[in-house]
Amino acid sequence: MKKYDYLVVGAGLAGCTIANLLKKNNKRVLIIEKEDHIGGMCYSEKRENIEVHIFGPHIFHTDSKEVFDFVQQFSPFNNFVNQPKAYKNGKLYSLPYNMNTFYEVFNTIKPCDAKKVIDEEIKKENIKNPANFEEKCLSLVGRTIYEIFIKDYTAKQWKTDPKNLPASLASRLPLRFYYDNNYFNHRYQGIPEIGYTKMLQNMIDGIKIEFNTDFNKDIKKYIDMAEHVIYTGSIDELLDFKYGILNYRTLRFEHKVLDVDNYQGTAVINNNEKDVPYTRSIEHKFFNYSQTEKTVVSYEYPEEYKLGCVKYYPSLQQKDNELYMKYLDEIKTTFPNLHVLGRIAQYKYLDMDKVIIEAFELFKQLTKNF
Ligand SMILES: Cc1cc2nc3c(=O)[nH]c(=O)nc-3n(C[C@H](O)[C@H](O)[C@H](O)COP(=O)(O)OP(=O)(O)OC[C@H]3O[C@@H](n4cnc5c(N)ncnc54)[C@H](O)[C@@H]3O)c2cc1C
Repeated sequence: MKKYDYLVVGAGLAGCTIANLLKKNNKRVLIIEKEDHIGGMCYSEKRENIEVHIFGPHIFHTDSKEVFDFVQQFSPFNNFVNQPKAYKNGKLYSLPYNMNTFYEVFNTIKPCDAKKVIDEEIKKENIKNPANFEEKCLSLVGRTIYEIFIKDYTAKQWKTDPKNLPASLASRLPLRFYYDNNYFNHRYQGIPEIGYTKMLQNMIDGIKIEFNTDFNKDIKKYIDMAEHVIYTGSIDELLDFKYGILNYRTLRFEHKVLDVDNYQGTAVINNNEKDVPYTRSIEHKFFNYSQTEKTVVSYEYPEEYKLGCVKYYPSLQQKDNELYMKYLDEIKTTFPNLHVLGRIAQYKYLDMDKVIIEAFELFKQLTKNF
């Protein structure tokens, strides 16, 4: 018999969730984490007594009561509602695109008037078969909204002219013809009051974890330690990049402590200016309503991905997905007892609630024969 029933590779949200479920079912679980802390992308730490989301703003939102009940076991949640703003040409606008935005942009008060203006703009573009991202956006929201909110922001985010991006990237651009700045439509929303890192720490309470331990440095040794491996890292590394590296989008965050108690008056502001290199500024104290004399503001800069950079977002390009599937097929036969889980290993953009749902699903599959 092997020393552990399950080896969980990675102590991000996916790894911590599955480890918790397995431990509760009396399985012998070991977690290994290549960094010196848990949390993955959800990692947060206190600076100036403010919980700072080091890898970008994380707002928990879900429609699943099961998921919300699950996370609330490990931390109480506050009632934060995400209502980001967008800055362009000296003006601040409401997001997501809703009647407040249309009032700010077109001065329209009634939904029928806002709809009329936008429909006329769409008609004027006369785009029947959008050939790229720009054309698709113009055909969905018209030129004014596109130019204020989408054009320059997207160019900064993807480091290319939106005309070079596929139309499929813009498949959803919902317009709300009602007054509502709540970014998410989900029933449950909030921020863990004790911070994400402490919440995840509570999730894996009592489970052995080894830090600074990279599974891919000695795959055979770790495979031999456990009956099953749950892997939450990038799968190209498992086969030593034999078909090439999987592509990701990466970011750089600049975190600044400012000697004022309130810098921008809200948690998240998108910056839609062409010549300002960051895409968002994030003032963390607003997530937890912290009453402090100073504030911490982070600036988000999109960067070119190279091997070794933090993997923030899986690529959405078809060729990258094909490469991922090629790796996955081979991994299934090379490592039959290895299961992939989470945003990086499944190579999908998964919000936190979706990662937890994936972990619930995997747990169900694994425990069919318990
Ligand atoms: C900028 C940004 C903002 C986001 N905002 C939101 C939001 O507002 N709301 C929301 O619901 N979701 C948000 N998300 C998504 C959220 O971050 C993810 O759903 C979640 O963090 C995924 O967890 P994970 O465990 O799958 O991956 P990760 O967080 O990437 O964790 C993987 C872990 O595995 C470790 N690891 C990898 N390879 C190895 C190895 N070989 N050996 C050992 N350890 C390894 C890594 O170090 C890491 O700790 C955001 C994501 C980003 C990038």
